[in-house]
Amino acid sequence: MTFAKLGLSQPLIDNLNTLGYTQPTPIQAKAIPLLLSGNDIIAAAQTGTGKTAAFTLPLLEKLAGQNRASPNQVRCLILAPTRELASQIGESVRKYSQGLGLRSQIVYGGVKTHPQINGLKRGTDILVATPGRLMDLMKQGAVAFDELEYLVLDEADRMLDLGFEESLNELLAILPNTRQTMMFSATYSDAVKQLAKVWLNNPEEVAV
Ligand code: AMP
Repeated sequence: MTFAKLGLSQPLIDNLNTLGYTQPTPIQAKAIPLLLSGNDIIAAAQTGTGKTAAFTLPLLEKLAGQNRASPNQVRCLILAPTRELASQIGESVRKYSQGLGLRSQIVYGGVKTHPQINGLKRGTDILVATPGRLMDLMKQGAVAFDELEYLVLDEADRMLDLGFEESLNELLAILPNTRQTMMFSATYSDAVKQLAKVWLNNPEEVAV
């Protein structure tokens, strides 16, 4: 299998070649075509399987070359449970999106909000965030989701374990219903299934 056969175009594939990615991992081979064709997905995948690229690459493919976000708006939101994971995802997004003309930002708690507020002013194509800080920024009017097209919930089980259910529910109430949503979770507890039921629209299940 090749990335080209999965439906990714050359500028992205060039970036992957630079990183030494010659072949998709199993989760990438399954998830990328589903996401490119617009499906919601729920995927059981652990760290180390290449799950970050599995959701990031189709998002970049869809976002590149299209309209930019308006001031303070976000086109794609990736939620992660911890600042470490948010940083890692943000770093991957930057590597994969070299030269595509997309703006990405990372926001998490424990650091000053001011630089984050400034960074969000011009509009963000891809925002990687932890839920608590994201809600703070939203309540301050620094970020809004009227233009949101794509949502990723990464490590959904850990977000629930860390007590983010209330923030997530608050956020869900204001996100556009027309978005495409992808959820990744290492485990499928009842709480995760409930989250999937309210957040996803007729999702395809992907397991590796
Ligand atoms: P993840 O599961 O997203 O944390 O990714 C695990 C590691 O695999 C990261 O270091 C990625 O850079 C790497 N990786 C992801 N996809 C590929 C691929 N198709 N070929 C080679 N390495 C990859």
